[in-house]
Amino acid sequence: MRGRLALWLRAQIELGVFETKADISAFVLNTVLVATTLATSTYLVVAAILAHFGLLPYPLRSAIGFGGSTTIVIAASITALLAWLIGTAIHELSLSRAEFERRSRLDALSGLYNRQAFTDALSQTTENGFFVIFDVDRFKDVNDTHGHAVGDDVIVAVAEELKRVFLPGHLVGRFGGEEFAAFIRSEDRSDCWLLVEEARRSVSGRRVAAGEGTIVVTLSAGIADRKGERPFEAVFVAADRALYLAKSLGRDRSVHEDEGEALLAPRRRAAGGRHR
Ligand code: GH3
Ligand code: MG
Ligand code: MG
Repeated sequence: MRGRLALWLRAQIELGVFETKADISAFVLNTVLVATTLATSTYLVVAAILAHFGLLPYPLRSAIGFGGSTTIVIAASITALLAWLIGTAIHELSLSRAEFERRSRLDALSGLYNRQAFTDALSQTTENGFFVIFDVDRFKDVNDTHGHAVGDDVIVAVAEELKRVFLPGHLVGRFGGEEFAAFIRSEDRSDCWLLVEEARRSVSGRRVAAGEGTIVVTLSAGIADRKGERPFEAVFVAADRALYLAKSLGRDRSVHEDEGEALLAPRRRAAGGRHR
């Protein structure tokens, strides 16, 4: 019985049946109707049986009139009170569960989706688009020079700019440390460049307070196509490679996975020339 009750309660919370006060009132009304009907019919059946065997100490009419109405009033009031208490408790549980779930999807420092929530949201998106990894340049130096608290302020500032550029419409999240990810819902490469460059420009144009002065932060970005049935792991690896290339080319820039060869060719030629 307890197990069934617990299952029923969980189902009510998960279904969001008790989301509003009106839901609680509907639950109270339903419960009162069922309980009153059960109590009254049970009373009437028992009264009729007792009357049949001559065991009722007063006439059946008075039993039906007075006893019936008293049963209705008592059953309705007690059930209404209990149902309201239970309904309110379930309502509060539903709210705290919803809040807990919302928080578990957000990164506490930046307020963006965390990695898990971002990849979940992306896996539910069937559209083609671009997956971008942003990484703060030389972030370790910020921590080492100005302290961890300033490092945290940098993360918050970057998150605010990314949120402004990518939300609503696209997806953005903090992937961990000083790494952020975005999904751009567009198949047009120039849309993607515009957004990525706007994000990078707004971050580098923002001054983050550090002690007496301010610091400038830059981002490198790696971009990969997310289209068709391409698995997320492959998209991620391609974006990460492009990011690595952006870093090795001097940072503060974005690289698309397709650019790899073109960007590396001059370096290879230079290296080959030196060997000759
Ligand atoms: P690169 O330009 O190659 O990306 O160099 P980097 O210094 O940014 O990268 P590296 O991976 O060497 O250092 C990242 C640092 O980020 C190390 C770690 O202590 C710091 N970090 C990770 N998470 C947090 C955080 O939540 N807050 C702060 N303040 N620092 C963090
Ligand atoms: Mg970095
Ligand atoms: Mg990093």
